Amino acid sequence: MLFPVDSGKEEAVGARAGRLHVIAGCMSSGKTGELIRLLSRHAVTGESIVIYKHSVDSRDGCKARSRLGTEMEARVVDGPEGIDGSDCRVVAIEEAQFFGDGLVPVVRRLLAEGRLVYVTGLNQDFRGEPFGVMPTLMALADELSLLTAICQKCHGIATRTQRIIDGRPAPWDSPLILVGGADYYEARCPDCHEVPGRPGE
Ligand SMILES: [Zn+2]
Repeated sequence: MLFPVDSGKEEAVGARAGRLHVIAGCMSSGKTGELIRLLSRHAVTGESIVIYKHSVDSRDGCKARSRLGTEMEARVVDGPEGIDGSDCRVVAIEEAQFFGDGLVPVVRRLLAEGRLVYVTGLNQDFRGEPFGVMPTLMALADELSLLTAICQKCHGIATRTQRIIDGRPAPWDSPLILVGGADYYEARCPDCHEVPGRPGE
């Protein structure tokens, strides 16, 4: 669903302060489903909406798709400079951790223009460390949703993202990008989250 702007609605942008809602959480915590739920409220009122996703997030192509089966059209961009949003009151950015620090000034600009900005992303990387631009965006947020998942090992409450390489927990110093894609990710609780080789342990 992409909602074209008509001239009447475009004038409303900037009349009120922008607002940033960050939806953070680990793998499989339902971030995209929550984003689509929140955006669908704006769809009811006919506000123009756009979702941006990074081209490195190639799953699902030009779609933001949730595990609930809900989906919305998305614009695929190669970096923060591809995010314009000038034709939409509501601007969503999926998987913000894929965008570098350059995303912060873009979000600030969208807010200064009076837009309603929604951002999803992993708050922690596979090591359990703050992930890229997400901590800054969470600090700037007017509203924050921190979602949890179910641990795939013990079925407790998961807040971490476990990286697995060749069937084993990925060591601390494993490269962030693996050619061949022998790695995958799953939700884990803090007790079951394993990072061999963590400094200081
Ligand atoms: Zn667990």
